[in-house]
Amino acid sequence: MKAIVFSEQGSVEVLRYTEVPKPVLGADEILINVKACAVNYLDLHARRNRPEIEAKLRRGDTPHILGSDIAGTIAEVGAGVDSIAVGDRVVLAPCIPCGACGDCHSGDENLCDTQVLIGFQTNGGYAEYVKAPAVNAIRIPETLSFVNAAAMPIAYLTAWHMLTARARLCPGEDVLILGVGGGVGSAGLQIAKLSGARVFATASSEEKLARAREMGADVTINYKDIDFSEVVLDVTDGRGVDVVLEHVGAATWEQSIASLAKNGRLVSCGVTTGNIGEINIRKLYQKQITIMGSALGTAPELRTLVKLAGQGKLEPIIDRSLPLDRAGEAHLLLENRKNFGKVVLVNA
Ligand SMILES: [Zn+2]
Repeated sequence: MKAIVFSEQGSVEVLRYTEVPKPVLGADEILINVKACAVNYLDLHARRNRPEIEAKLRRGDTPHILGSDIAGTIAEVGAGVDSIAVGDRVVLAPCIPCGACGDCHSGDENLCDTQVLIGFQTNGGYAEYVKAPAVNAIRIPETLSFVNAAAMPIAYLTAWHMLTARARLCPGEDVLILGVGGGVGSAGLQIAKLSGARVFATASSEEKLARAREMGADVTINYKDIDFSEVVLDVTDGRGVDVVLEHVGAATWEQSIASLAKNGRLVSCGVTTGNIGEINIRKLYQKQITIMGSALGTAPELRTLVKLAGQGKLEPIIDRSLPLDRAGEAHLLLENRKNFGKVVLVNA
């Protein structure tokens, strides 16, 4: 089968479009004929320097295949699989949890210490075929295209888990979404609107903010030249927002906390600008602020998201689709932040 592979980490030039053996199935596994695979920033980090990939390349004798957000049709099923059939249209839950630890048994499979991410610790969907455990396959309705389905898992799961499972956003509340032009930000905006919240959104360009307003953002803030918390406090008559969706980290931490109302919740899923942030503890307790973390999401949550997308209530933002052999170009689009929404690789 054809695949995009790399044997050493580096710039996009390490990506090669070549012929590799088809995966061999275990009894509980399925083979997916990949129709669409979305590109994530994690793919770029994996290609450049993530130590997990370096270890995998050093350990194995095969090159690595990226791609965690995968949709396609079932091409083969293992001997022990009866939950899904050849020809079914599916999207894959991106994580493979152990299924046996305390976290997995508690329904917190996203916290499993030994889980692996498809396309990161295993070979992924930048290929004609990929294998996965049968339990990872979620059937998608005819109304949901492969491209839209592939755009969902990581970005939508992350935003959904943050806003519903963790922050428990309610109708009528105010929520601030940082970086609304990104995958998690644009998913967060749609989920927050679906929840009946008023949405404040930040981005670095007027073009992105205009798109956010088209998607329903109520208040948009260009954070380039101003402290966004001042705008938030101004618009809310000094009250602040009930929930902040944080994925930026050190650069926005203090402004995010300053944007919170009394009883406000800050939920964080990422630190693209640095891991360490300060907090004024006196304000934390006087305003009864809650700060919480959030790590991806679970397969049952992805089922809910697929259902909502099938009903047209969530619609992934697609920047463009590119044929698989142009994966390097897709990486450059993300690297230079030229995209609004997901870049998706497709097989003919
Ligand atoms: Zn586990």
